[in-house]
Amino acid sequence: MNFNPFLQNLPTYLPGRPIEEVAREMKIPASSIIKLASNENPLGPSPKALAALRQVLPQIHLYPDGQAYFFKHKLADSLGIEVNQLILGNGSNELIEFAAHALLSPGSEVVVSQYCFAIYPIVAKMFGAGVVTVPARNYGHDLQAMLEAITPQTRIVFVANPNNPTGTMALREELIRFVNEVPQNVLVVLDEAYIEFLDDPVDFTGLIRLGTCPNVMLMRTFSKIHGLAGLRVGYGMGPAPLIAAFEKIRQPFNLNLPAQVAAAAALEDVEHVQKTRINNFQGLEYLSAGFRRLGLEYVPSHANFIMVKVGRGQFIFEAMQRRGVIVRPMGGYLLPEWIRVSVGLPQENERCLAALHESLKS
Ligand SMILES: *Cc1c(COP(=O)(O)O)cnc(C)c1O
Repeated sequence: MNFNPFLQNLPTYLPGRPIEEVAREMKIPASSIIKLASNENPLGPSPKALAALRQVLPQIHLYPDGQAYFFKHKLADSLGIEVNQLILGNGSNELIEFAAHALLSPGSEVVVSQYCFAIYPIVAKMFGAGVVTVPARNYGHDLQAMLEAITPQTRIVFVANPNNPTGTMALREELIRFVNEVPQNVLVVLDEAYIEFLDDPVDFTGLIRLGTCPNVMLMRTFSKIHGLAGLRVGYGMGPAPLIAAFEKIRQPFNLNLPAQVAAAAALEDVEHVQKTRINNFQGLEYLSAGFRRLGLEYVPSHANFIMVKVGRGQFIFEAMQRRGVIVRPMGGYLLPEWIRVSVGLPQENERCLAALHESLKS
């Protein structure tokens, strides 16, 4: 077979390990395992979404509405933007791929930060583009250096704010200046997967609403705060011409029927979002305090996970897994001394700290 040459050195994305897989491998019941590895919502899905799902299940023999009319209008209204400034994705991961599809080819480049979300470089390489990685500053983005790394070949600059896996947040003024100073022929992807966890985020939706900025795309997801990771719903907001280009790439039924219905219901579940935020703030406090007690360095987090330096990251990950706690080793991000822990329920966080403590002694 003559495989696409870009596939030759393409790394595979390593997701957090599913509970079932770990249970099978270790021959222990799935019910005895907790997963704090993929930044999922520990409170589960929105109850409103669950109720809506039950109603729609008898209709899954029908194709979904390829335009997702109802959900899309509802989402656009809630964001205060036009439907032609909005695109839906099978998770926001699909939107990242749309951006690459629309803009990248061999000879072009993307600019990312060291310790960026692993999908950006993978997708760029899939389209034969070069990846320019700018050294991080205190584990976060060095936005000025990223600006300076832009060349005539640059097509996309990716910034996740807060960043995954480090949990860092860009300074308001620096981020605004950055967005204004990136040349208008280079797309700025602002990945806001964790924005709902912030108290006072920089709100770029006004920029989208005005429609005057040709090169900024905001990406968000229902996987994190809304607790619908298993359904795969993400969305992008951007100028209408950019959205129209992305629409050409989109598969007609990329958002399945249960996903459309559940996400529409989750959008109204303000209570679930609020409970999730409160659990998260308390969980971050609890975990940070625990790390301090254990004498471990951590990166103060603005998201729903926290990165902590444990020495032998892979070893601790495996030792914690034997104790039924799945976290994320960071070797793939070239941070072999670190693990990333998603915030869980209070009892899960407690179990996580206990497993970490025992693993460090082992
Ligand atoms: C989790 C995450 C996403 C969202 O992924 P989905 O495909 O919507 O589940 C996007 N970007 C970052 C940085 C993330 O951490």
